[in-house]
This record gives sequence, C-alpha cells and structure tokens, in this order.
Amino acid sequence: MKDLLTVGTVAFDSIETPYGKAEMVIGGACTYASYAASYFTDRINLVSIVGDDFPKSEMEALEDKGVNLKGLEIKENAKSFFWAGKYHENMNKRDTLTTDLNVLDDFDPVLPDEYKSSKYVMLGNITPELQTQVLDQLDGSQRLIAMDTMNFWMDIAWDELMKVIGRVDILTINDEEARQMSGEYSLVKAANKIHELGPKFIVIKKGEHGALLFGDEQIFYAPALPLSQVYDPTGAGDTFAGGFMGYLAKTDDVTFDNMKRAVIHGSAMASFCVEEFSIKRLKNLRDDEVNSRVMKFKQLTHFDL
Ligand code: AMP
Repeated sequence: MKDLLTVGTVAFDSIETPYGKAEMVIGGACTYASYAASYFTDRINLVSIVGDDFPKSEMEALEDKGVNLKGLEIKENAKSFFWAGKYHENMNKRDTLTTDLNVLDDFDPVLPDEYKSSKYVMLGNITPELQTQVLDQLDGSQRLIAMDTMNFWMDIAWDELMKVIGRVDILTINDEEARQMSGEYSLVKAANKIHELGPKFIVIKKGEHGALLFGDEQIFYAPALPLSQVYDPTGAGDTFAGGFMGYLAKTDDVTFDNMKRAVIHGSAMASFCVEEFSIKRLKNLRDDEVNSRVMKFKQLTHFDL
C-alpha cells in the first residue's frame, strides 16, 4: 500500500434534483474522492482549503476514515468554496447555478514535507494553477499522477490547463468535456487527441453509461450499475476517480490489467455516491457492501462463449 495525495475542493453545495433539494450540504471534488479512496487505503494526504464556516465535525469524520488533514488550510474570516447546481429528468445534464470560489481565490498550497513523496497523486477538480503548484512541490518519485478537470476551467483557464495536462499520466474527464477539449465528437478520436496533449491514459466518464479507459493501444469499458433510483449524481465523477486511485495505491500495480480492476472499483464507489444526496452514502459503507457491489459488476458483465 502506498500513499495517495488528493487535491481538490472541499466545499458546500446546494443541489436540486427531480427527487428533492439539499441546501448547503458537504461537497467538493476532494471530499468525494477522499471518501471513496478511504475504502481501499488509510494513507490519504489531503490538500485543500476551507473557510472557518466549515464544520469541525466534518473534518473529524474525514480523519476517522484515515485522511490526513495536515494539508487542509482553514482560513479565518473566510467562506468555503460554494457550488450550486440543478439537475433535470435526464441527470446526465446539469446546470451550474453558482460557483463562488471564496477561499480558492488566493489559496497558496504548501505541502507538508511528509506529502511530497506520495507515490499516487489525484489532482482533483480545482484551478489548474493550484494543480500545478502542487505538482511543483512533489519530490519526483511519484508512480502515477492523475488529474480531473471540468468545462468551467476549460472556459476560463485554458492555457494553464494545457500546461498541467502535459505533466500527468492519466486524465479523467466526462464525455462532453472530452469533446470540448479535443474538438472531436467521436470519443475514440477525442481520447487520441487528448493523448497527444500528454496523458498516457484517459478515462472518459459517461455518467449512467459507465466509463471508458484508453491506454496502451487498448480500450476497456465498464458500465455503470443499472440502478432503479438515482437521487443525486453530484460527485459521482470525483468518487469514481477516488475509488480508481485508491485501488491503485492499495495494489501498487499500474499495469493496464490492474487499471481495469481499478475502473470497476471506481465505478462501484460511484454507484453508492448517487444513491443519496451529498456524501451521505459514502460516509458509512461497510467493506462487505463494497465487495458485494464489485461482485455485482462482475456478474453484470460476465458471459461464457
Ligand atoms: P462532479 O459531480 O463529479 O462534477 O463533482 C461535483 C463536485 O465538484 C461538487 O461537490 C462541487 O463542490 C465541486 N465543484 C463544482 N464546480 C467546481 C469547480 N469549478 N472546481 C472545483 N470543484 C467544483
């Protein structure tokens, strides 16, 4: 088992879906990714910033899951990152209503020394400048660096985003964003173009239609688990990424075959995430629930010839 460094937002969200509303609940890319990874490793080094409005009990809950919060800055007299979104009947599409950067505006992350040699790194969704600042502080001994991003940063920080993409091994991105980034509609062509930007592996997340892993001239496809009810898809992509990287950090094997297993573990974690609002479902899972969810994926895709 190796250390996993997670970077991204730790935030408040207000979410509306056809099944209800949740105001000022806990969210943030890094929160989701860290909870998901915590089912595979208790060596998680979190880097983020919150304001003094962020509940202490939520920090303790993360620590109870084995998440090291030495790299979480708590800024006095400041507000945490806030995002509000609304989903429609087709939950693959959502409208962002508000993005308040708040504490992110002048965050200058300083990595604790013990973080610098983390072998696995998940640069979760946050400003590309901050992702770069974190990369610059690593000691160069990393085995695998993954990053996630979204249309928001493509729209306002394209050049900075291209710089950081050129330095990572894996990009995780959703289908619409892969199309926007590459200018290609075909996801195969999009992955090829993104590959030319730097990453050796590309994971394209397709919401309720699963995820595609491109790399080593091979493609692997994992479906999403067909669920009778999706309450809130917020954070599913980050949860996927956290489960994926948590599994790789646990097994310390970066072959394409093991990445396939990691994609399934990430998909299993994402299937829990959407069953409740916010991080509710991810907070208190049992290991046997996680294992049996992974088995469901095996059954879902297994056939004999
Ligand atoms: P996902 O549904 O996987 O895209 O993740 C949603 C989470 O990302 C929410 O909990 C938000 O707090 C967070 N988020 C939304 N917009 C941004 C952004 N522009 N940068 C970083 N995190 C964001």
